[in-house]
Amino acid sequence: MIDKDYLLELITEEQILRMLERFGAVPFGAIKDKEIWFQTICHSGNSHKLCYFRESKSFYCYTNCGQMSLFNFAMKVKNCTFPEAITFVANEIGISNRYGFNTMYISSNQELMKIDRYIQIRRHAKKEIKQLPKIETNILNYFEDDVFYTGWINEGISIKTMKEFGIHWYELQKHIIIPHTNVNGELVGIRRRSLQEKDAKNKYMPEIIQGVTYAHSLNLNLYGLDIHLNGIKKSKKVLIVESEKSVMLAQDYYGEDTFVVATCGFNISNWQRDMLLSLGVEEVILGYDKDFDVLEFEDYDPDSEEYKKYERFVNRIYSLAHKFTSYCRTYVLWDNLGLLQKKDSPFDRGKEVLETLMKNKIEINTEREEENTY
Ligand SMILES: [Zn+2]
Repeated sequence: MIDKDYLLELITEEQILRMLERFGAVPFGAIKDKEIWFQTICHSGNSHKLCYFRESKSFYCYTNCGQMSLFNFAMKVKNCTFPEAITFVANEIGISNRYGFNTMYISSNQELMKIDRYIQIRRHAKKEIKQLPKIETNILNYFEDDVFYTGWINEGISIKTMKEFGIHWYELQKHIIIPHTNVNGELVGIRRRSLQEKDAKNKYMPEIIQGVTYAHSLNLNLYGLDIHLNGIKKSKKVLIVESEKSVMLAQDYYGEDTFVVATCGFNISNWQRDMLLSLGVEEVILGYDKDFDVLEFEDYDPDSEEYKKYERFVNRIYSLAHKFTSYCRTYVLWDNLGLLQKKDSPFDRGKEVLETLMKNKIEINTEREEENTY
C-alpha cells in the first residue's frame, strides 16, 4: 500500500482545495494565514464549522466529527475504509496503485527522505521550531482557580499538580478547564473535560466562551512540554501519551524528572516529531491507551471484524512508532501481562504497574525488520 505520510508530504494545498471543490465545498470567508473554513461536508452538515489547518494539512469539524487527518476526512466524505481513502487521495494526485510507484520504490524513496530529514533535523537542532501564537491569559479569570474535580483527585492527580498545570473550573457548564501552553509556557488553546451527561461522547473538546472557540491545532503543540522540558533534555528521553491526565499523573509520580508529553489524540504529527528531535531526544517511548487487549486476541478468529479492528489498532501503533525509528531508539509499551484494564493509559494503575510496563517495553526497529514479526 502507498505510504500515507509520504502522500501527505507530497500533496499540495492546491490539490486539496481542488479535491474539496469536487466534494462541493469551497472556502467560506477569507483564506486565513493558518486556516481555511468550509461547510461541514464531513457529516453532510450545513454550518461552516469545518476548519482546514494549512500547515498540518488536517481538518477539525467543530459540529460533529472532531479532528480528522486528510485521510479520515476522505473516509467520511466518501464513506470508505482507510486503505480506500489512501488510494483515493493517491489517485487525486496522480499516483495509482497499478501504474504508479511500487512498494519498493516508495520505501527506498522514503528511506532517502528520512535520511535527508535526519540530516536536516540534526543540522538545525538549535533552530527554533515555529510555535502556535499565544492568546491572552486573562480569559482564564473567567473560571474558578480553587475548585478541583474530586474524580481526578481520587485517580491520583494532586491539587498541587493541577495548579501547576493551571487547571480551572467552569461552574456554569460543569467543565474542567485545561489550558494548553506551548514550549515557552504561553497559553495557545483551552480544552475542557465536560462532566455533563450530554457530553459523554465528547468529553474532551475545545472550550467555547461567549461564542469564541479557544481551539488550537493539536498537531502543532505537545501538552506538558513546557513543564517537562528539563526532564526531557536531561534524560534525552520522551514518553508520549494520549491524554492530559496521564501527563499530570506522571508529574505526580516523578516531579521535575518527568519526561512525559501528550499528543491529545491517537496521532503523532511531523511537527511533534521534529519538535522532540530538536530537543536532542535519543529515546522515544509510546504509551498510548490500551484500546484493545492483546491477550484477548491470541486465539481469535483472524477473519472476524473484531480481530480486524484489533489489527488496525496494532498497525496504527506501529506506524506511529515508525515516525521515529530512523532517528532514535523507539519503544512501545505493550501490556502483555494484563496489568491494565481496557481503555487504560499506562499511568492509570499506579507507578508500580507503569514501571513494570517500562521494564518490559518493546523496541521497534525499522520497517523491514519489523515486517517479519507479525
Ligand atoms: Zn463533521
